[in-house]
Amino acid sequence: MSKPLSDHEKKKQISVRGLAGVENVADLKTNFNRHLHFTLVKDRNVATKRDYYYALANTVRDHVVGRWIRTQQHYYEKDPKRVYYLSLEFYMGRTLQNTMVNLALENACDEAMYQMGLEMEELEEIEEDAGLGNGGLGRLAACFLDSMASLGLAAYGYGIRYEFGIFNQKISKSGYQIEEADDWLRYGNPWEKARPEYMRPVHYYGRTEHTPDGVKWVDTQVVLALPYDTPVPGYRNNIVNTMRLWSAKAPCEFNLKDFNVGGYIQAVLDRNLAENISRVLYPNDNFFEGKELRLKQEYFVVAATLQDIIRRFKVSKFGSREIARTNFQELPNKVAIQLNDTHPALAIPELMRVLVDDEKLAWDEAWDICVRTCAYTNHTVLPEALERWPIDLFAKLLPRHLEIVYEINRRHMERVASLYPGDFDRMRRMSLIEEGGGKRVNMAHLCIVGAHAVNGVARIHSDILKATVFKDFYEMDPHKFQNKTNGITPRRWLVMCNPGLAEVIAEKIGEDFIRDLDQLRKLEAFVNDDGFIRDIAAIKQENKMKFAVHLEEHYKVKINPNSMFDIQVKRIHEYKRQLLNCLHIITFYNRIKKEPNKAWVPRTIMIGGKAAPGYHTAKMIIRLITAIGEVVNNDPVVGDRLKVIFLENYRVTLAEKAIPAADLSEQISTAGTEASGTGNMKFMLNGALTIGTMDGANVEMNEEAGEGNLFIFGMRVEDVDEMDKKGYNAHDYYSRIPELKQCMDQISGGYFSPKEPGLFKDIVDLLMYHDRFKVFADYEDYIKCQDHVSAVYKNPKVWTKKVIYNIAGSGKFSSDRTISQYAREIWGVEPTLEKIAAPDDPK
Ligand SMILES: *Cc1c(COP(=O)(O)O)cnc(C)c1O
Repeated sequence: MSKPLSDHEKKKQISVRGLAGVENVADLKTNFNRHLHFTLVKDRNVATKRDYYYALANTVRDHVVGRWIRTQQHYYEKDPKRVYYLSLEFYMGRTLQNTMVNLALENACDEAMYQMGLEMEELEEIEEDAGLGNGGLGRLAACFLDSMASLGLAAYGYGIRYEFGIFNQKISKSGYQIEEADDWLRYGNPWEKARPEYMRPVHYYGRTEHTPDGVKWVDTQVVLALPYDTPVPGYRNNIVNTMRLWSAKAPCEFNLKDFNVGGYIQAVLDRNLAENISRVLYPNDNFFEGKELRLKQEYFVVAATLQDIIRRFKVSKFGSREIARTNFQELPNKVAIQLNDTHPALAIPELMRVLVDDEKLAWDEAWDICVRTCAYTNHTVLPEALERWPIDLFAKLLPRHLEIVYEINRRHMERVASLYPGDFDRMRRMSLIEEGGGKRVNMAHLCIVGAHAVNGVARIHSDILKATVFKDFYEMDPHKFQNKTNGITPRRWLVMCNPGLAEVIAEKIGEDFIRDLDQLRKLEAFVNDDGFIRDIAAIKQENKMKFAVHLEEHYKVKINPNSMFDIQVKRIHEYKRQLLNCLHIITFYNRIKKEPNKAWVPRTIMIGGKAAPGYHTAKMIIRLITAIGEVVNNDPVVGDRLKVIFLENYRVTLAEKAIPAADLSEQISTAGTEASGTGNMKFMLNGALTIGTMDGANVEMNEEAGEGNLFIFGMRVEDVDEMDKKGYNAHDYYSRIPELKQCMDQISGGYFSPKEPGLFKDIVDLLMYHDRFKVFADYEDYIKCQDHVSAVYKNPKVWTKKVIYNIAGSGKFSSDRTISQYAREIWGVEPTLEKIAAPDDPK
């Protein structure tokens, strides 16, 4: 019998990780040692693990820079239409492995490290996540960057280089969330390049002067925007695009104008005030917090980015360098600006300000250019998430922009009035300025009016936009409304996080599916192939074992690797209904206690996610989960048939470990509330089955995987609407369903918090008396559906066949498909899988 393969040898055999050619490996070792010596200034006697990580990161980075420069030269020479993706969030996660995957360097680097006695996986763990996002919206932006580069688009991501990303979440001994600052730049960031030579001024406050030669915005305070560029490599096509993140810098003369004796020191200290603009990411997911600093951030990215866009347009070869006066009519043919939600909506009045005030275009001409250039993506219908900025704040910080918004609104209202004479209620509903409870600017309305395309992020969500929230706008301008169902990049969310699965697939259908995910359909031919079924199940088991080791190290709980791994990971939010999951856990627990000798299908139920620090209910949901875990995990009657684990500090890196290990994916939001979801897609691609409602992209996943291959339960959107008309009465369910009553009585009676019986009073009151998301209405069907899940899980072959149908049907959810649709249907550019020449190719 031959010796079992070591992890290293196993990985080497995985072809999707690239070839480890001898020369390649030798070169990597040489360059690694060079960086250790010259960049880190260390030798192997004193080098730390972190030094080795940085040496490796720099070695890999060297393979990027030539391609990066070449790509940008290529764009300059070809002058294609540029795509600008503006986002307040880019939830990138780690960069090292992603770069190696896209450049086919993974196995070669692994081998080089191995030969030097280092473990690459251990070095990868040293890299901090770039956690510049809250959840789905920020991660979508990151997936889009990967797809735009992989599809050869001349695209740029523009955002803010937050000094502190999303907080690190700790769970205290008593089971509460604790937030810690995410000091991700402490040890330096090898992937970014500061570009102080391209610094740009951003103005705030001041007042406007209306003069015969136009409007002037004067007496402003200036903050500088310092760009940091991060390369975005495409998948094996030698394209490297740029993500440019702005950092706030006080000008040298900041506050020194009013220099007086004793004022100098204070003036220097006060530079912080300006530099605070890029200090920290606001940690709210799907929630609007109308803070001045946040409005400053939104204008900061917009003002700096538009200067960049216009400069690049003006100096473009095509453009207008030679022409005395720039032909801005060409702007929409050369530039597309995509607004990731309303957060960068100020791009619309800012572009108008530049065109009208600075470039002296007539309003009508400027407006036509603006609308044809901008497009807007809506991410939510939850009213508490929609940005509505108070007028006084707006007027104080951006006086000129408010005037422009008023002028946009005046003309917009004129048009509404002429199309719907006498319909004053419609005018009120459609106004950019909301009255009542203090005037506010409705940023979504501004975006719809100022953009030529408005899209939702899943079919059902786009339909809801047209039918409800933006109905009036749809009736007036139906041509603007589109759908672009979200997607995820299969590079990070399959090849990188689940190489074993990628390889098993590649053995059947080749490697092309990695850039053309629809090819996964070919796997349907193997649903009855026993060898393939065995391989798929074996990979899942391997991933589960690996994650179990991680969990046991981390949480000191013994995991039953034969239990079903039932996972809900996403931000903690009432609408996502982690509480419904809790009710199932308690119900399952009660059933085991009632019939301890029955052959229950064992589960390890994991819930993870961050609560916004100011969101009390979300924090109490976390406390409830930890409380349930405390009781369940220590009950000897239960044993290893049920474990409840709160996954601490859920972030991109933890998603990459947890999702490949999942058997069951929980996607249980109230129908009509989750715009799309992307976590759902990651699980599907990684061979988990979904229990979910007909919400967001679940609807389309169900369609793609085929009848009966998702576990769908609960109210549909129409049922929810119906219930809203008739009224939802939680108490009816409570008194009618004994198992539900038992759960609630336990929570309210202190069963899970014996030392503090009233601890969950707020949660009980919420569920019983003011639950906007109707948890009880879906309880019965959810429990039934979970029973069905367990029954199917008992038959591994039937289960795995469903898994194969899911993987085979997940092609639609590649962000390559999403981006191709944005490209063709909104931006007017054509995606391509063609490679450009590599730096080492002959020219
Ligand atoms: C994909 C992802 C999300 C989005 O998950 P949903 O279930 O769609 O809300 C949130 N956070 C992280 C870290 C992710 O990777």
